[in-house]
Amino acid sequence: MKIKNQLFLIILLITIPSVLIPSIMIFQSQYSELESKIIQEMSVDSIHVMDKISRMIYERNADISTFALNAGIIIDSKTNQINAQELKIFDNTLREYERISKTYSSISIYDLSGNKISDTRNFDSITNDYSEEKFFKNALNSNYFDKYPTFSNELKKEVIHFSAPIKNKDGETSAVIVTKMPTSRLYDIISTSNENRDGYETHLLSHDGNIIFSTSRDKTFDKEFFNELKNEKMKILKKDDKNQVSNIFLITEDKGFLDQKSLEWYIVTQATEDKIYQSLIELQRNTAIVVGVILIISTIVTRLFMNSFSKPVLKLAKISQKVSSGSKKIQFPVIESNDEFNILSKSIKKMYSYQENISEQLENKLIELKKSGKEKDEFMAMLSHEMKTPLMPILGYSEMLLMPELIGKLNEQQTDAVKNIEKNGKHLQKMILELLQLQRMEVLTGSVSISEIKLEKFYDELLEDIKSKINEKNIKLIIAESKIHTIFSDEIKLKQVFTNIILNAIDFIPKNTGEIKIRSEIDNNDFVKFTIKDNGRGIPTEDLLKIFTKFYQVDTGITREHDGSGLGLSICKEIVEIMKGEIWAESKKGKGSKFIFTIPNILENKDSKLV
Ligand code: ADP
Repeated sequence: MKIKNQLFLIILLITIPSVLIPSIMIFQSQYSELESKIIQEMSVDSIHVMDKISRMIYERNADISTFALNAGIIIDSKTNQINAQELKIFDNTLREYERISKTYSSISIYDLSGNKISDTRNFDSITNDYSEEKFFKNALNSNYFDKYPTFSNELKKEVIHFSAPIKNKDGETSAVIVTKMPTSRLYDIISTSNENRDGYETHLLSHDGNIIFSTSRDKTFDKEFFNELKNEKMKILKKDDKNQVSNIFLITEDKGFLDQKSLEWYIVTQATEDKIYQSLIELQRNTAIVVGVILIISTIVTRLFMNSFSKPVLKLAKISQKVSSGSKKIQFPVIESNDEFNILSKSIKKMYSYQENISEQLENKLIELKKSGKEKDEFMAMLSHEMKTPLMPILGYSEMLLMPELIGKLNEQQTDAVKNIEKNGKHLQKMILELLQLQRMEVLTGSVSISEIKLEKFYDELLEDIKSKINEKNIKLIIAESKIHTIFSDEIKLKQVFTNIILNAIDFIPKNTGEIKIRSEIDNNDFVKFTIKDNGRGIPTEDLLKIFTKFYQVDTGITREHDGSGLGLSICKEIVEIMKGEIWAESKKGKGSKFIFTIPNILENKDSKLV
């Protein structure tokens, strides 16, 4: 990854958590703060509502007692005769009260037989109001009210009945008074508390979990849940597979107003998360927007910063690339800034001009060296050529001397001396030949003659050339199977390289158990790689590079077995490099050697003479 992108990533990795973590923390603390605030508000509200309801029931009970006390003698208990005038006065009083208080739907009076004798709403046509019967019976002895609302057929709505006996002077019950309070009065109390509070529901429940009144349309409440709530006082049901939204439930029990016994009614307040947490959801959304905006801005700023930072780096990288690729006369722009880039660009410019200076000097030196090298080569060429001429008669006469039929028989000592002359003469001749060959190679630099080479045939001919040496030492030469069958290269040069390497290997591998293995494979698509591996004495690591220089021999002792000139591998190197390939050796002392070289496989333009 480019430095620019790496830095960009690092800055983002630092920015994102440093924005996100505090936002999440703030959000979480706000969330729990809001939740506990809601629970507190709900608890205060429901106590308040319960209190109001309890007070209202107390007042309705007080009302009915007062009504009963103030009834006067509306029925003569001895004759059971209705005192119409008294009844009329009392009914009027009740009507007036009902009108002013706006609390009741109707107030009725019954005689002891259960017949309605007066009704503030004139419902006297219906004498048998079954819904009121039980009140009547209960009211014969004492005050009574029903803790469950009843549907009134007369009023066509749900009402709560309050009843009390009307007694005469002797304390005997002479009639019964019944008031009907519509449940909407409960609604008035509850709805004022729920006003402007979307998402809240209030349920008024009896001790057994029946709904007396509820703001929700659902008129039932799960009894089991109600009992759990009674024990735990509060329940938070989180959104999950069962619940589509989270709900908070809070329960408050009536404690009884003043001396009134507990009604055993319960207020359950329910808060639905989606609505009540509206502000929190908004907070969440706003936080997300703010975080998003911060991230976008920081990304843009980081990008801009990275660009301003990376531009000079890229500029310097480009220039360094040009320098390293060997381009000359590069224009060096100095980065005009107040930071380290200015210093860096100036330093690189200085370094470059210094290096240019040095390389100019080196180039001059090289030209000089080449000139003297050429002179040396010319001298060597002349020398080897001149040495070749007198060597011919030396070798010729030595050979003749060893043929008794021509010049006569020599004694044993003389024969040994002539053999020695011949051997050293031949060695000198080989050296001169190799020198001349090397000389020719250097002169011919760049000249390659490409032809199609069938590798199988090539190896057969190679083997034929060195067969006698292989048989002499009784060693194995293995040609490994290869996917390559035909290549395009300079056959003569290739054979020379193989011959030099293999002849060396034959000299260094043991008799009878010696083994040479040749492998050829594709290298980098259009190159062929040859490996010649032997199980000979190996080459010390420090000599691996030196063996390719002229006249270098690892073992120069008199007793050495290998009779070389130190030129064979230099010739190989020269040839491989002419062919634009590479050659190297891999070995360890005592572990055999591997000579590897690559040459291009010239598939196109195969008739070309020059590569
Ligand atoms: P020479 O004419 O002496 O063989 P070369 O340039 O061919 O000259 O080789 C240089 C030296 O490299 C050799 O003298 C020898 O010490 C070492 N050498 C070359 N091939 C091998 C090999 N297969 N195993 C061990 N040593 C080798």
